[in-house]
Amino acid sequence: MTTDQSHDELHAMAKRREVRLVPGSLVNLLEFDLASLTAFCELLGEKRFRAVQLFRWIHQRGCANFEDMSDLAKSLRQKLKGVSEIRPMTVVSQHISSDGTIKWLFDVGGGNVIESVFIPEDDRGTLCISTQAGCAMGCRFCSTGHQGFSRNLTTGEIIGQLWFAEHFLRKHLQRDERVISNAVMMGMGEPLQNYAALVPALRMMLDDHAYGLSRRRVTVSTSGLVRKMDLLGLECPVALAVSLHAPNNTLRDYLVPLNIKHPLEELMPACVSYLAHAPRDFVTFEYCMLDAVNDTDALAIELVQLVKHYGHSVSWCKFNLIPFNPFPASGLHRSKPERVLAFARILSDSGITTTIRKTRGDDIDAACGQLAGDVVDRTRVAVRIARQRSAEPAAALLAATTVAKV
Ligand code: SAH
Ligand code: SF4
Repeated sequence: MTTDQSHDELHAMAKRREVRLVPGSLVNLLEFDLASLTAFCELLGEKRFRAVQLFRWIHQRGCANFEDMSDLAKSLRQKLKGVSEIRPMTVVSQHISSDGTIKWLFDVGGGNVIESVFIPEDDRGTLCISTQAGCAMGCRFCSTGHQGFSRNLTTGEIIGQLWFAEHFLRKHLQRDERVISNAVMMGMGEPLQNYAALVPALRMMLDDHAYGLSRRRVTVSTSGLVRKMDLLGLECPVALAVSLHAPNNTLRDYLVPLNIKHPLEELMPACVSYLAHAPRDFVTFEYCMLDAVNDTDALAIELVQLVKHYGHSVSWCKFNLIPFNPFPASGLHRSKPERVLAFARILSDSGITTTIRKTRGDDIDAACGQLAGDVVDRTRVAVRIARQRSAEPAAALLAATTVAKV
C-alpha cells in the first residue's frame, strides 16, 4: 500500500472520528486505542502483533521516539516516522501543593489550557483528568462552568494527561512499577458530553497492554446526561459518580441547569439501571455542600426519601459530601464543618454509606471545582450564569425548595 493510499484511509478514519488529523501534520499515535492502532498498522502493511508492540512502547514504557523502539524493524520505524509521531501536549506549568498534590497545566492550542491533578495517598495514586476545554453545563458552584466552553478534547488529549503524568512520576520517583492506580474524569468538562473521544481513552486506561487499570478504579463523573449513561453501561462500564447536589428538581434546576432537560425522574432510574453493568454494586452521588443553599437537615431527610423511593434498600448508592471550594465569582460559601457533619449523620443514620471528601491541593487551586485552566469561551455560558445569578438569590430559592417534592 502506498503512503497516499494510507493517507486516504486515514482521512476515512478521521471522518469516522477515530482520529483527528491536522492538515499537513503527522498522525499523532496517542489518538489510537489498540483497535485503531491495529487498523493503522494494517494500513501500513504490517502484522497485527506489531500494533501491540508499538502500543506497549507508547503507553507502558512512555516512549515517544520510534528510534528507541529496539524490537521494531528499522524499516518499520522509518515507515512510522514518515506518517506518524507521538506528540504529547506541552506542559505550561507544574504546581506542587504542601500536601503532595501536583497540578499540571497543558496547552491544547487556540488559547486553551487544561488541567490535570495527581493526588497521592498511602494506598493509591489518583489522577483527575479533564475531558473538555471548559464546560457548557454552567453549574453555579463550579469554576470551570463559570468559564464557559471552548471545545471537546480529543482521545489523545485525554489519554495524553495519563501518559504524561504516569511516566513523569515514574521517572521522578525512580519507580519501575505503576504510580497511578486510579483515574477519575473529574477535571474540567462534562465527560459524557464528549462521549466519542472519551470511550477509546477509557479503553486505553483499562487495556493490559497500556495502563491496565481496574474498571473499579476508573470513574466517570457526570452531571446527569442520562442517555450517555445508558450507553456507557453497555459499551464501557466503569465506576460511575453522579453529581447530584440537591434532592429535588427546584433546587437542582438552579444548581445544575442540565436538570431542566433531564430531571430527577429521568436521572435516578438511569443511575439504578447502570448498576446492571457497573463494576461496583453502587453508584456514588457527589454532593457539594453549600452554606444555606443545600445543606439543611430538611434537605438531608428529603435526600434519604429520594434514595429510598428508587431502590429496595439504600445500599444501591453511596454519598460523597464535598465541602464547596470557593472561587470569587461564585457568590457562594462553604458549609460550616459542623453542618456537614450533621448532614452526613442524617444520611448515615438512615443506612446510607456517606463519606466527607478531604480537600486536597487547595493551596494550588487544584481542589474539586477549582480547575479553571484558561479557556476561550465560545458559548457565552459565563455571561448567562452571571445574569441568572443576579436574578435568583440563593437563599430565597432555598426557602422555596424545602417544600418542593420530587
Ligand atoms: N462534569 C463532571 C465532572 C467534573 S466536576 C461532573 O459535574 O460530575 C467534578 C466534581 O467536582 C463534581 O462532582 C462537581 O460537582 C464538583 N465540583 C464542581 N465545582 C465544585 C466546587 N466549587 N467545590 C466542590 N466541588 C465542586
Ligand atoms: Fe461542568 Fe461538572 Fe463543572 Fe457542572 S460541575 S460545570 S458539569 S465541570
